[in-house]
This record gives sequence, structure tokens and C-alpha cells, in this order.
Amino acid sequence: MAKRDYYDVLGVNKNATPDQLKSAYRKLAVKYHPDKNPGDKIAEDKFKEASEAYGVLSDKSKKENYDNFGHAAFENGGGGRGGFGGFGGFNTTDFSDIFEDFFGEFSGSRRSSKKESYNRGSDLRYDLSISLEEAYTGKKQNIQFSTTEKCNTCKGNGSKPGHSPERCTYCGGNGKVRSNQGFFTVQQTCPQCAGVGEEITNPCNDCNGQGNIQASKKVSVTIPKGVDDGTRIRLAGKGEAGTRGGTSGDLYLFINVDSHKLFKRSDVNLFFEFPISVADAALGSTIEIPTIDGGKAKIKIPEGTQNGKQFRLKGKGMPFMRRGDFGDLYIQVKTEIPISLNKEQKELLEKFRKIENERSNPSIKKFFQRAKDFWKN
Ligand SMILES: [Zn+2]
Ligand SMILES: [Zn+2]
Repeated sequence: MAKRDYYDVLGVNKNATPDQLKSAYRKLAVKYHPDKNPGDKIAEDKFKEASEAYGVLSDKSKKENYDNFGHAAFENGGGGRGGFGGFGGFNTTDFSDIFEDFFGEFSGSRRSSKKESYNRGSDLRYDLSISLEEAYTGKKQNIQFSTTEKCNTCKGNGSKPGHSPERCTYCGGNGKVRSNQGFFTVQQTCPQCAGVGEEITNPCNDCNGQGNIQASKKVSVTIPKGVDDGTRIRLAGKGEAGTRGGTSGDLYLFINVDSHKLFKRSDVNLFFEFPISVADAALGSTIEIPTIDGGKAKIKIPEGTQNGKQFRLKGKGMPFMRRGDFGDLYIQVKTEIPISLNKEQKELLEKFRKIENERSNPSIKKFFQRAKDFWKN
């Protein structure tokens, strides 16, 4: 049977980019993969055909040969430069990489073979609540948590003192085993050593060969000025210890800033509503307001300040994280209408009402002017 053109097999044109080739191959490979189509001879053939086509077209020099000479390039003794012996003209071992890349999810193998990544300790999360004042000043805090630490007896290698881990007999220390399926190779994590490449033959008594023991750990952390609710601080290497030579995980501090009785926070700015009396609003006044640093600030309320008027105090907000400057404090005036008046207050207000004029209440004047016009029409 004549061999199909490799480009036709993948369903791409001759100018396809490496990414397009890969994507086309991936689609076919996923569809026809033998693990997904057990016992299906047609699927298996399709899979092999696509793999072969991709094996050639993804390799620059093989592709060049194929483009120049077609399938003849890969036939034994064929006209291609150099020629390629063997099945289909490509080396099966070149393939494990692509294969793993695509099928790691169902062949159970993992991309990384580095000992460190198998043995890396877990990351930990620690939730910490602080007050707004503490977020303003920053603070040092000791935190205590349960984690794993390197076993002192075996220095983390898991073997009894005087012994060392031995190379895994199953995988020869690679951490991976390969098996052949047809002409391609499946690579899997070694079932005996779980990818470590080593075996503990004389396990340490204190940690049962784990290299780690459960421990309670204390860490001093610096909470920077200006942290916000939801800020995450990463403490590299402060998570669980790695096993047998692996690196430690990280500790993530999740900051929760409690809400404040007085100040509302929005990013680096602070805000609060400030109630003032009708007399202060009308006559003007100087008032003292609290600031987040625990101090006071004076504000001049001008004569005739209206309800809802906002004042800004520059630099009296929260600090920017890792910067020297600060946000602002906004206060909004809320005029409080007096209640529970005594006799004298009532008399004075009655007197005031009688001598109130249109000039002192321009909004009232404006409204009734409009209302009058409305009634006329
Ligand atoms: Zn130990
Ligand atoms: Zn092994």
C-alpha cells in the first residue's frame, strides 16, 4: 500500500508552523492513542501513522529531506542525503519527549524527573488577622505552626546512621521505567521508588525512613507597613521540609485586616463620616478629628458648610507598601439635626425661624420659585 503524504496525514499544508504541526499531531494522537482505544487496530495504525509523520515533520533536517525526496528519503538505501535506517526513518527515543508531553496525564508519567521536584516539601498556609493600626505601622510577629522538619538522626536521608540509600534496583536509579508499545516508548514513574531513584534499605528508626519528622515550628515574620486585607506574604523555604534531598516548600501568610470602628479603608485611602452640629456648620468652627496614627488633626469648618461636604487630609491615609509615602484621609461632614431640645433651645430656634430670610436659605428659595412656576402652568 502506498504511504500517505505526511502533510495529508496531519491535515496541514506545507507551510505549517511547528506549532501548527504540533497542534495537529496532538489532536490526532489524543484521538487515536492506544490507551484510549484498546484493541482497536485501526486506531493504532492511525496513531502510528500520525506519530511517524510528526516525527519527521517536527525535525528540521528530516523535514527538509522529506520535502526534497518524499518517502524515498527514508527508505533503506534510498536517494535521500544521509538516509535514515530503521522503521519509518526516525529514532523512537527522540519521541519520548513529545509523548510524555502529551500523554503524561494518562500514562501516569511526569514531565519532571528532577529528584528535587518529586521530593519538594509541601507549601503551607497560615492565616493571620491584624488590626488596621497594625497594618499602618507594620509589625513583627511570631507565629507557631505544625509542620515537618528534617530528621536530625539521619540528616534527612532516611537511612540509619552508617547506611545510605541505595540505587533503586527496579529502575537503576533513573526514577523512570520505559516499556515498548509497538515502535514507540512509554515512560513511567518507577513504581518501586516512586521516581526518587533510590531505596532505603535500612530505614532510620526516628523517622521510619521518611527523612522528616513532625514538628512545631516558630517563625518570626515581619509584616510590612501598608499590608491590605488579602495580602499574601511568601516565606520561601519555611514550609514543610523536603524528603531525601528535596527542597523545602514555602509558607504563605494570608493577611486579614480587621475592619475598624472608625476608619473605612479603600486601598491606601481612609475615610470616615464626621457628624457636626447645625450651629458649627452654619457659623464655622475648628474641630479635632482622630487620625490612624493615634493622633489628632485640626480641621477648619468654614461658615456655611453644607451636609455631605468632603475634606481631604493629604498624607493621613495608609502607607503604600514598600514606599515612603502615604494615601489620604477623607472626611465627610454629616450635619446632625438637633433632637430633644429644651425650652430655651426651642425659644431661640423659634426666634431664629421668624428672622430667617431667603438669603440664608437659597435652596429653599429656588425650590419654591420652581414650584410656583409649575403651579402656574
Ligand atoms: Zn531519620
Ligand atoms: Zn526506581
